[in-house]
Amino acid sequence: MRALLYYDTGDVRIEDVAEPEPGPGQVKLRIAYNGICGSDLHEYFDGPGMIPVSAPHPVTGLRAPVVLGHECGGEVVAVGDGVDDLTVGTLVAVEPIQRCGSCPDCLAGRYNLCSHMGIFGYTTGTGGMAEYTVVDRVMAHPLPAGFSARQAAVIEPLAVAYHAVRRADVLPDQTVAVHGAGPVGLGAALTARHLGAKVLVSDPSPVRRAVAQALGDFTILDPAADGLDSMIRHVTGGRGVDASIDAAGAAPALRVAVDTTAKGGCIVVAGVHHQPLRLAPAPLMLGEIDVRPSMTYRGEFPLVIEAMAAEAYPLDGWVSTIPLTDIVKDGFEALRQGSAVKVLVDPTV
Ligand SMILES: [Zn+2]
Ligand SMILES: [Zn+2]
Repeated sequence: MRALLYYDTGDVRIEDVAEPEPGPGQVKLRIAYNGICGSDLHEYFDGPGMIPVSAPHPVTGLRAPVVLGHECGGEVVAVGDGVDDLTVGTLVAVEPIQRCGSCPDCLAGRYNLCSHMGIFGYTTGTGGMAEYTVVDRVMAHPLPAGFSARQAAVIEPLAVAYHAVRRADVLPDQTVAVHGAGPVGLGAALTARHLGAKVLVSDPSPVRRAVAQALGDFTILDPAADGLDSMIRHVTGGRGVDASIDAAGAAPALRVAVDTTAKGGCIVVAGVHHQPLRLAPAPLMLGEIDVRPSMTYRGEFPLVIEAMAAEAYPLDGWVSTIPLTDIVKDGFEALRQGSAVKVLVDPTV
């Protein structure tokens, strides 16, 4: 079968590899689409980060080349021994955390913090940028009738977004500011709206602001314009927002969040900050503002599927599809240049 293998920074190759077969408790999928994630860009342009290249991975023992891709959906084509609750032909979304199930964090339900985690598409040897893949049954979420393959492939980044919104304890009629209108930011804005909040979205990119604007009744803000802080204060009657979600991983976004979150509110850090931060903590202390990092998801896939069934996540305007053969130019480079928002790759062409 065709698969995209990651060898090293700037070195991915489409190769013919052996088709995986499901072991006990596993399911085999024919991949329809696999989305390109910001983490994939980081591995390609700045990596290797998570992918073990110079030494084997301490938990899985694997090393590059590995099949890339962790945002995927596909149809069940075979099941391993012991799997009796999924039938061939079912469309599923893959939750890429391969958890141990027995460490203290897994036992506490925090499998996103598992100490022995393998990440599908980075460290498990399997991945979504291939014609077929194999995952543990617990990682395959069956989708209701009528769901499309494109919807299946965006459930993973939407689960990241949903977890961030849940971390903020968003309630109906609250006001939420989302900083960064990439896939996770858009997903967080759509999720907060689905939960009944009023939503502000800020992003320095005119392309992304236009995408967010087209998705509906968000207040769109340009952080490069003068007075972002006072605009947010103005929109909220001087109080500030109940929750701020940093989906940008950028220092200025967090600084604005510190200055514009209401007393007793919450700032969720959902973006990856690769640089150390300088922040003045006094406003946080004076306003008892919580700062809560948000790491992937735990238990959000069913919530995203339910919200998606209720049409919370329109895909038009921000999700595009390309053939695997064009992944570098129309995938990695287009995303880095900001000319695309979420790119799904068809591994069969
Ligand atoms: Zn991802
Ligand atoms: Zn664990």
